[in-house]
Amino acid sequence: SAKKAGRNGYCLYSDDLDRSASERLDLRNRLRQAIAGNEFELHFQPQFEIGSGRMCGVEALLRWNDPQLGQIGPSHFVPLAEDTGQIVQIGTWVIHEACRHAAGWVARGLIDCPIAVNISGVQFQRQNFAELVAAALDQSGLKPQLLELELTESVMMAPSGRAGETIRRLRQLGVRLSIDDFGTGFSSLSYLKRLPVDKVKIDRSFISDITHDSGDSSIVLSIIAIAHHLKLRVIAEGVESEAQLSYLRRQLCDEAQGYHLSRPLPADEFERFLSTPRSPAVQSLCTPAEGE
Ligand code: C2E
Ligand code: MG
Ligand code: MG
Ligand code: MG
Repeated sequence: SAKKAGRNGYCLYSDDLDRSASERLDLRNRLRQAIAGNEFELHFQPQFEIGSGRMCGVEALLRWNDPQLGQIGPSHFVPLAEDTGQIVQIGTWVIHEACRHAAGWVARGLIDCPIAVNISGVQFQRQNFAELVAAALDQSGLKPQLLELELTESVMMAPSGRAGETIRRLRQLGVRLSIDDFGTGFSSLSYLKRLPVDKVKIDRSFISDITHDSGDSSIVLSIIAIAHHLKLRVIAEGVESEAQLSYLRRQLCDEAQGYHLSRPLPADEFERFLSTPRSPAVQSLCTPAEGE
């Protein structure tokens, strides 16, 4: 695969294999400046309970405002930042910033649901990861139950001893854990019962064709069935249409997140979103599934 045209017509790369050494060096240097210059920002995307319409979570999503290139999404720089180790510093900032925003919103009575933060495997495998989370909770005053860490299957199931120990310490702290991009990893579903998680996020690649592709819909049905059997909540990510939403409602999926309900929003827009009457799409969530 060749270059992907980024925003503003610049060429960015999402695949590390496509990068030449000099391009990688350039991006690495620009990332270093971005860290020093505070060029990162979090956007916030709400998650909703299907059936009640209650906002049941908010996911923090990283953005980089490069002075030349404009806003750059994480898939364009997180893989390289993982290779160079820069993700550790960036990820630390993300956890602190997410806790700070959430604690402020809770204090103002704007939200009462957890904030979800994406955690890179590189960051998770660091020795002091659980202490870092504890420090962010401490400094922000956010209750541990209001922080949810999103990890992928491969990170959680890494055979190295530390993952299990870190997960235990995080559980002791009282933070919630969810499995992101579920279904795309190499894990077998039987692993799910061993993992102390609260929630499974069905990857959006299975949701996009859910109403047309019988393969995708059976995968989604299986994930929902198994998760419920294990008493886990299930959220569908990347919900873009009413048709997808009503399908998920009929299949008793618990929660939904996606452009159809709200795009990820900068902090000030998210606050406005919270104080605005609910959109028709969100209102439609209050309809119970047929036959319920
Ligand atoms: P993810 O955690 O699976 O996040 C979901 C992605 O889907 C986000 O892309 C979100 O903006 C996008 N999305 C949400 N609703 C829809 C929809 O209805 N349709 C479509 N097509 N997309 C939707 P984004 O923000 O570009 O993030 C991409 C990935 O980058 C994330 O996938 C996550 O793995 C990673 N990421 C994001 N923020 C962070 C971070 O703070 N730290 C780390 N380590 N990774 C992050
Ligand atoms: Mg995520
Ligand atoms: Mg995901
Ligand atoms: Mg994803």
